[in-house]
Amino acid sequence: MREQMAATVEGPGLKPTESIGALRGAEAPRSLRETKATTNTEILDQKRSRMTNVGVGPGEGEKQMRGFFAPLRMTSGDCCGMREADSSATLRNDKQIALRNDKQIALRNDKQIDIEEEDGTPFDKLREECGIMAVYGHPDAARMTYWGLYALQHRGQESAGIASADGHDVNDIKGMGLVSEIFTDEVLARLPGHIAIGHTRYSTTGDSALLNAQPISVESTMGLIAIAHNGNLVNLGNSKARLERDGAVFQTTSDSEIIVQLIAHSRCNTLVDCIAESLAQVDGAFSIVMMTRNRIFAARDPHGFRPLSMGRIAGVNGEPDTFVFASETCAFDLLHAKYERDVRPGELVMVSEDGVTSRRFSPETVPHASCIFEHVYFARPDSRVFGRWVQQSRDEMGRQLARESGVDADLVVPVPDSGVTAALGYAAESGIPFNFGLIRNHYVGRTFIQPEQRTRDFGVRMKLNPVRNLLQGKRIILIDDSIIRGTTSRKIVRMCRAAGAAEVHMRISCPPTISPCFYGVDTPSTRELIAANKSVEEIREFIEADSLAYLSLVGLTYSCTTNEPANGMSPASFCTACYTGVYPTQWVDVEDILPATVVA
Ligand code: SF4
Repeated sequence: MREQMAATVEGPGLKPTESIGALRGAEAPRSLRETKATTNTEILDQKRSRMTNVGVGPGEGEKQMRGFFAPLRMTSGDCCGMREADSSATLRNDKQIALRNDKQIALRNDKQIDIEEEDGTPFDKLREECGIMAVYGHPDAARMTYWGLYALQHRGQESAGIASADGHDVNDIKGMGLVSEIFTDEVLARLPGHIAIGHTRYSTTGDSALLNAQPISVESTMGLIAIAHNGNLVNLGNSKARLERDGAVFQTTSDSEIIVQLIAHSRCNTLVDCIAESLAQVDGAFSIVMMTRNRIFAARDPHGFRPLSMGRIAGVNGEPDTFVFASETCAFDLLHAKYERDVRPGELVMVSEDGVTSRRFSPETVPHASCIFEHVYFARPDSRVFGRWVQQSRDEMGRQLARESGVDADLVVPVPDSGVTAALGYAAESGIPFNFGLIRNHYVGRTFIQPEQRTRDFGVRMKLNPVRNLLQGKRIILIDDSIIRGTTSRKIVRMCRAAGAAEVHMRISCPPTISPCFYGVDTPSTRELIAANKSVEEIREFIEADSLAYLSLVGLTYSCTTNEPANGMSPASFCTACYTGVYPTQWVDVEDILPATVVA
């Protein structure tokens, strides 16, 4: 795929085409519902035919289709097809920027290497999933969406995209890289309109290429629909096979496209009925925002795995209010939006010029299974997730950990950043002083110049450095949020000892991770999860700590529900499958979940 990217960017100049507006007037794009291709050749022919529709000659069309941009123009129909002009490529720092008439897409041409991978051991944290954002009723909706995505960047750093609409046309721009790298002022100026949705992504299902960046757009007989999705569907095989039998041509390997294809193939009379019917057919985790040329939709799966909140910005001078949706409420703060409520599990919310309406697409009796790991690690502590402040849960996890497995020591030290709040709670409960004995380098990107020779623990030391004068001769309690493979934990323990710590006691603010996640979190296989294969004592030996203790499951669910009964969550409202192996949906074979792969 990387070769394809390079070929597209660096290839010979492409011919200018007719303007998209001219196309729109001349010929409406074909509905995907009408497509009946069943073989690769037929699919190829259809794609070539559609490319001819937007003014690319057969030769260029085929070349483009093999190239990186082809699927984008296919899925985007008339709304965001690219006009091939100068495909001039310039090199800016470590990124190649492909400048086109109405698109600018930043491509990382450097190798994406996680710090831990550099010295031979893999990334040792669960990966965040995705962040989604939607804005309705603001004159600069794309810029508001950009700010929201900026606040949600921790949920995915591989690619980002924004689609906007002005009531008539829909435009979208997607790229590889960070939100701020892709969306410059110039790029945002190409996304006019009062409606926008956005997405920032770390791939879980499908590969990580721009092909699968979101929002994904599909033209249907109901008009164009763009979708941004956080989560993983778990009945991919059946739904996809059925859609393909009905003539659907999938443009991406992302499971998110299944939802829009279901909508495009629905036979209901209204779009809202099509959406509700389609959402009722898929199983698994999905928090989604969708848009048409004049409406926004937001929905959560019946179990409520992933968060999605709704906020409002009061209109000024009699202007109507702006409605916003985001994976986490930290996105609202930047926009001065007020948190209104969560989108409820199984609820479909629609915002249009008629205001906000809501309907259910699943029975209220479906048991809730909100991902408890959002409170443990994924979400920012300044967010309110599932109606509860993450800071409050993490602080309580630390306190409960101190109650369950206190140990005599001189200093509580967090593994930054995600262990900080729990460590503060632990210190407050135990009375042991807290200090930052490990400093994180916040300027370490995803890539770096590799040393000539592999250096022991180089990767971890790039990220973390001990404060020697704090650790020297101290018995320390290290607080972290998880141990996945154990390799990073061992390096941190060694680092603290090398800095002079007399004893290193490791405390983890959740139970041992023993099972992979099927709901939008990239977890290693059971074989690689250290807690699935070793006892706590064996793990302690492996990470070379003086003692090791995890928070109990009861302690965790208590920490996420105590002191705030009004949020409606109970210990049974959470998914805890990665700690128990008990999954809230029907069992899904691992083979059914496409592996998340990073393009190298
Ligand atoms: Fe969250 Fe774990 Fe459940 Fe996945 S399995 S949704 S990470 S609690």
